[in-house]
Amino acid sequence: MPDIRIIDGRAIASGLRDDITKKTRILMDETGRVPGLAVVLVGKSPASQIYVAAKRKAASDTGMNSYVHLLSEDASEADILRLIERLNTDQNVHGILVQLPLPAHINKQKIINVITPAKDVDGLHPYNLGQLVLRQNTAVPCTPKGCLYLIKSIRHDLTGLKATVVGASALVGRPMAQLLIQENCTVTQAHSKTADLVDACKDADILVIATGVPNLITAQHVKDGAIVIDVGINRIDECRLVGDVDFQDVTSKRNCAITPVPGGVGPMTIAMLLENTLEAAT
Ligand code: NDP
Repeated sequence: MPDIRIIDGRAIASGLRDDITKKTRILMDETGRVPGLAVVLVGKSPASQIYVAAKRKAASDTGMNSYVHLLSEDASEADILRLIERLNTDQNVHGILVQLPLPAHINKQKIINVITPAKDVDGLHPYNLGQLVLRQNTAVPCTPKGCLYLIKSIRHDLTGLKATVVGASALVGRPMAQLLIQENCTVTQAHSKTADLVDACKDADILVIATGVPNLITAQHVKDGAIVIDVGINRIDECRLVGDVDFQDVTSKRNCAITPVPGGVGPMTIAMLLENTLEAAT
């Protein structure tokens, strides 16, 4: 039987949330300031509604204020921009998150660009992504930040390791590659046009996969001893979620440390959102 270490994102995130709760209380005691997170949801996508409800509950569980702004599916760009401009100047709001994806008629980047960088707790504003590349202190996008935390729970010093990030979105893959370069890894970034994905992955000490393609990664992509972080959340049928990694195949054939889906990266994304909100309020 292979030697498998399951990376329990739920437990690690829970510890982080306890710590954030304590720090939130200290901030309130010392300054009277209560961190406030505003979440903007446009439309009624069931998945987005679930994510927003989870973020709202997490914020209030840690003692933060959360404000959910629901806009109808046919809200115009001007409606959303007006709301963001109001939130930018609201003293009670320290973090603003626009739940993605937005309806097709909305230019996502135009909306993100209007968020004041200091309140951009998702770390997706061009200023914050630029600061990340320049290695300046900044709000780091929540999902890659959470992935790095999970990787470091297995191995603290990543210097010299080979890392492959499969997926190159601005939300996950690209900032993930930056974070791993900052940890002195040698990074390969794969995407849908990568000619030979097995070749790009099979020597990696660290594999992070964020593609939205169910079960894309199998044992042939994974080196023995690798750390495998599965970001993907794919709804296969009404009630079954799978990642981008064929968990069964990989764990039956390879020694590895691996995140499950659900219960791996998802809870960490929320914990990092809370951490970024607390930092924005501090
Ligand atoms: P995007 O659709 O924005 O990006 C997908 C990336 O994967 C692209 O770079 C694309 O390549 C690449 N890709 C697609 N197919 C392949 C393939 N066959 N081989 C290699 N690369 C491929 O997705 P996101 O980054 O936003 O999300 C990815 C997944 O992560 C989704 O399942 C999403 O639900 C999940 N997710 C989970 C979060 C969590 O908290 N757990 C948070 C955010 C996302 P190209 O650039 O060439 O198009």
